[in-house]
Amino acid sequence: MVIQAKDLTKLYGEGENRVTALDRASLRLEPGEFVSITGPSGSGKSTLLHLLSGLDRPTLGKLTYDGQDIYALGDRELSAFRRRKIGFVFQQFNLLPALTAWENIAMPLLLDKRQPDEAYLEELARLLGIGDRLTHLPHALSGGQQQRVAIARALAAKPEVIFADEPTGNLDSRSGQEVMELLQAAGSGTGKTLVVITHDSRVAKLARRRFSIVDGVLTEVTEE
Ligand code: ADP
Ligand code: MG
Repeated sequence: MVIQAKDLTKLYGEGENRVTALDRASLRLEPGEFVSITGPSGSGKSTLLHLLSGLDRPTLGKLTYDGQDIYALGDRELSAFRRRKIGFVFQQFNLLPALTAWENIAMPLLLDKRQPDEAYLEELARLLGIGDRLTHLPHALSGGQQQRVAIARALAAKPEVIFADEPTGNLDSRSGQEVMELLQAAGSGTGKTLVVITHDSRVAKLARRRFSIVDGVLTEVTEE
């Protein structure tokens, strides 16, 4: 999938309270690219990721996936598109607390009325090191294990693109590093496009292309 964003802009509030969360962000991502985005708190990183993944719609601007205008889709079509093509990993894991790890992982497929490919999901869980934790509820798992479940959930529908919003932000540095290695192997290692927001410069440097964002303005980092 070629992802092309043109002048994505998001304004919040009115009058004196108006905030330009994102100011005309443009970028083009080729299939299989691994991209990182860094920036201070409040700079617009999550806003950008939500717009790029169709979780939210911009005030202005255009987004295409292989030429298809994503924001021209109605809400239900857009949700279906996201479930099939996009995986999203959140900083806070966002697992459903009453469901087991396995049920959380299979949930996107069930929502899409698709039969989970159980052999694939079991292999995925094994690769992520949570194969023996699948009947546990999230609260019985460590942060690192919860994030691995969330990664498995993001990958369950075999999406072409994965977005991760500070995926290591709630983890200690060792589980953070393991989670990044797994994301990278599961993402760019298999030809998926991977876009990671991070505060961690070591994580950012793993990416082949790096962007930074300050006060809603996105720029590509070119110097080595
Ligand atoms: P980051 O992820 O880089 O910390 P965000 O994208 O969450 O930044 O936020 C960018 C700016 O937009 C901030 O000033 C934030 O307060 C503002 N903002 C984000 N979401 C909303 C919202 N729903 N309503 C009003 N302002 C918001
Ligand atoms: Mg954020």
